[in-house]
Amino acid sequence: MSVMSVSFPEISPTMSALTLVEPGPTPRLTMTHRPTPTPGPGEVLLRVDACGFCHHDLLVISGVLRRGVAAGVTLGHEITGTVVATAPDVDGVEPGGRVVSLLTAACGRCERCLAGNEHRCLHGAGVGHGRDGGFADYVALPASALVPVPDAIPPEQAALLACPAGVAMSAVSAASIAPTDTVVVTGAGGGLGAHAVQFAATQGAQVIAVTTSPDKISGLESLGASVVIDANDGPDFSEIVMALTDDAGADALIDTVGPPLWPTTLRCLAQYGRMALLGDVTGEAVPLRLAEVIFRDAHILGVSGASRSTLQQTVDMAATGQIRPVVSDTLPLTPEGIYEAIRLVSGRRPLGRVVLTP
Ligand SMILES: [Zn+2]
Ligand SMILES: [Zn+2]
Repeated sequence: MSVMSVSFPEISPTMSALTLVEPGPTPRLTMTHRPTPTPGPGEVLLRVDACGFCHHDLLVISGVLRRGVAAGVTLGHEITGTVVATAPDVDGVEPGGRVVSLLTAACGRCERCLAGNEHRCLHGAGVGHGRDGGFADYVALPASALVPVPDAIPPEQAALLACPAGVAMSAVSAASIAPTDTVVVTGAGGGLGAHAVQFAATQGAQVIAVTTSPDKISGLESLGASVVIDANDGPDFSEIVMALTDDAGADALIDTVGPPLWPTTLRCLAQYGRMALLGDVTGEAVPLRLAEVIFRDAHILGVSGASRSTLQQTVDMAATGQIRPVVSDTLPLTPEGIYEAIRLVSGRRPLGRVVLTP
């Protein structure tokens, strides 16, 4: 099935796509011309309006993350675009509509998809990892992996609704945050952290944001943090968390940093505390005394990805102004733009996300 049911006359037969020529500490990237993809069964063709530059992309570009990366794949999974063509079997997605993509090209039919865990689809490849992503003019994606975006949300913000916003929302849900809770968010100035701060604050929790970038303190306060701790300032921020909570510790902890702050993060956790781990996919080990988990009756939860219903929730919350996708910089989708994004993200400069626009 290679015939599109509807096609815009302006769809060019070839497109520009950013190609990773050589991963490594000094990566080589170039723009190449490729055939514009044709949507397969159940798929639609999107004109990419904006695509976030994730830490995950940086790990692939720098050669740290290689597992499951398809050869010659176009990176970029934080995609928003406009539907320009659909396969003949696609219903309910119309050309001209704006959408945001899940991080996985979910099939919509397997047991995981039917259970509402589309991000763990048994057949779905990771967008911008196992199959082509959004660092290109066009991308073909399954209609079942797309959620409509209202006009009130500009493309740069819409790009961030699944990752990092939806992923951060999944972590806040997993940690079962209540209005009476004190919640610590580590890496609060990063993409996941800045959104986790907002979602935890919308639950009514007192949010303690931990950052190593003192210039982000006022920005984090404006996102809803009650207290911002500069983790460079003193060796052990868990002592500050204990002081702020009358030695009770944090009811919940959203950790987006992992090994560099471990085991200080665990020391922040209260009795019966819930800790959601996300973001660190480097595979680096941390020391863990099981007794520290057992005697706390702690719950440690892994979180990756966002389901379709979670993505729909973040879209609704952004549309009604309950949360604001945090865009630090908008750069052109060119090698120069990407090199600048790499420089900014490597230096942990952005509050929130860098977004690229074709
Ligand atoms: Zn991402
Ligand atoms: Zn599936």
